[in-house]
Amino acid sequence: MRFTPQKIEEILVALLGLEGTPLVKELIGKANVSEFDLATRTKKDIKIIRKQLYILHNYNLVGFTRKKDKQKGWYIYYWTLLPESIKFNYYKMKRNLLEKLKMQLEEEKKELFFICSTVCVRLNFDQAMDFEFRCPECGELLDQDHPEERVKQLQKKIDELEAEFTALKKEHQEKKKQGKERKKVVKAKKKVVQKKKSSKQKAVKSKTKKRENIVKKIRRIVKKKR
Ligand SMILES: [Zn+2]
Repeated sequence: MRFTPQKIEEILVALLGLEGTPLVKELIGKANVSEFDLATRTKKDIKIIRKQLYILHNYNLVGFTRKKDKQKGWYIYYWTLLPESIKFNYYKMKRNLLEKLKMQLEEEKKELFFICSTVCVRLNFDQAMDFEFRCPECGELLDQDHPEERVKQLQKKIDELEAEFTALKKEHQEKKKQGKERKKVVKAKKKVVQKKKSSKQKAVKSKTKKRENIVKKIRRIVKKKR
């Protein structure tokens, strides 16, 4: 999958919350932006901007360089998003989510759940038994929950995530294959160059041999004449 600016924004805002949107917008597509510029452009307090940047930095989603301000004597930090790292983190998060959903699905399939008619609580069998099948919130009798719809939703999400991972795997393999083919082409080109070189060397060799033979012949003739 290509990580468009919108996708990157979505991922980072999911992490920072909506109040992080202005900062994220200022970082996308730029490099080495000073934190003071970020504060000015987002019209936010430098402390808030720093806090958001540190959160992103904790997840390794931004990198920084710093320069000393000679007049004021302090360091100014310049920030840049790290797209590869964002990608990596995104898939790590999705991978964790997938594991969690699979576990939930397993539980839904093997456990019995009980629910209160006014939906205050949803309890598994052991919990429901502890409360003698009455809602601990409102005292209503608990009904057995039918998890078909829940299972369907979980399965749908799992399928979507797995499809995404399959696509990603395919993309990786495709890139690997392209890389290999490129190497092959380079190798083949090298071979051709080497062949040319060695045939040139051969030609030079045979030329010197011919000359040597001629010289030998002349010498012989000269010897005879003497
Ligand atoms: Zn209840």
